[in-house]
Amino acid sequence: MRGFHVYYDDQCEVCQAGVSWLRVLDRRGVVDVIALSSVPLPAGLVMENCLRELHVVIAEKTYVGWDAVARLARLFPPTWLIGAVGAVPPFSWLGRGLYRYVAANRHAVSRCRGGVCASAKPAEVRRRTASGAFWTCRSIGFFWRLPLVVGVWIASLGTNLRAYVRTFRRRITLLDGRLTLLFLGSPTADFVPLLFGERFWAVCYDGVMIDPGSSKMRGSLRRHLDAQPLAITTVTATHHHEEHSGSLEWLAARSGAELALAAETSKRLRTLRVPWMRAMIIGQPPNLTVAPKTLGERVPTASGGVLQVIPTPGHSDDHVSFYDPQYKLLFAGDSFMGGYFSSPNPDVDSLAWIETLERLLNLGVEILVEGHGHIHTLSNLVPDIPDVVIRVAPEEELRTKLNFFHWIRRQIEIGQSEGMPPAAIAATCFPWGSRWSWERFGADLAARVLSGGEFSRTELVRSFQRRGAGGVLPEVYEMESSRPNQV
Ligand SMILES: [Zn+2]
Repeated sequence: MRGFHVYYDDQCEVCQAGVSWLRVLDRRGVVDVIALSSVPLPAGLVMENCLRELHVVIAEKTYVGWDAVARLARLFPPTWLIGAVGAVPPFSWLGRGLYRYVAANRHAVSRCRGGVCASAKPAEVRRRTASGAFWTCRSIGFFWRLPLVVGVWIASLGTNLRAYVRTFRRRITLLDGRLTLLFLGSPTADFVPLLFGERFWAVCYDGVMIDPGSSKMRGSLRRHLDAQPLAITTVTATHHHEEHSGSLEWLAARSGAELALAAETSKRLRTLRVPWMRAMIIGQPPNLTVAPKTLGERVPTASGGVLQVIPTPGHSDDHVSFYDPQYKLLFAGDSFMGGYFSSPNPDVDSLAWIETLERLLNLGVEILVEGHGHIHTLSNLVPDIPDVVIRVAPEEELRTKLNFFHWIRRQIEIGQSEGMPPAAIAATCFPWGSRWSWERFGADLAARVLSGGEFSRTELVRSFQRRGAGGVLPEVYEMESSRPNQV
């Protein structure tokens, strides 16, 4: 039975970090954690007091502030001693003093906005936001959560390794042979699935080969085709990025298939130069030497069906997806990339991506095939394949991502309207209270370091400002914002 009701201020980063720990410690599920903004308060509790200090209610008894912390600590073996010692003088006096000091300064140090504490001290919060207080709080929130961040990151590396081993250069055939998935890789490219979980595959659907991998993965593609040839009639790509486009011309020549690309993709691939790190790991795509056919509205498949070509800009402006209305099957390429993909590169335009997601939601997709090793579906036409098939409705996945984008956009708008500095706006888009923020921190940091800053969380914030519309800041906004207006 959940006998302990914990009321906390969910707008406060310090409180959120404490709740993260509480959830980890509470293995028996005895604590019921309640956000102040989510429910009406029970009789006897006053909002103003609850905002000031943590309240724990057990049956008829209410513990407040430090006493509540000490009571909770005594519930769990790892923290029992702290709770027991902290409940007796002089330690209890010390604890209460310390708690009151932190609680009193919490609204000034925490970047709280909207919701509950908007009614507390909005002017005070705004006044102090630009000072070091915000960053102090963010740093404290981070270090308090650091063991969780590290633990989750190590666990994710284990998950990545398992998925990599299970699908290593695998060939999977589905839908009565219509769909073939060829897992690709190379000694250098394999760092990506191990570190970040994004695997590489080429997808062949009824004669249409979509995204046949990078130049460095060509050996693995060749071995697949040598082992078991595929009848390919058309070779195409969802967009110009190197892991999708490096073997297009080579495969079309080898298989005698027609090469068909979106006009913008062809244009890019004639002159594309990728940054050196990406060239080293994934491979520089050879520039096109032939003129591909330009993709129309549909691509015929080998047995008389069609794939609709749907423009899906956002991840990159030349991105297209392919849709078979008969099976409600979408080849999304990189126009999905998980619900919380949080470190994009400068190609991403998130406002365009929002429109794309809305368009995809209208299709009624039942099977969503991604560009990096996952299929999202509830359909029983697709069997369970561990680490490949995710049993979630595509609509739900797309909606989660759309909601995430809307939320980030709102954070940026509010931050700008309050005159927050750009770096602080970026930080508020990744509050430690959101699970995806600290769970993905390790992988996002690795992406930033390994790509020399090209893929980063900062880029996600910039990706909402590409168009410079509505008074938002242009691409390199830190520089722009400190420059006087130019005529
Ligand atoms: Zn891409």
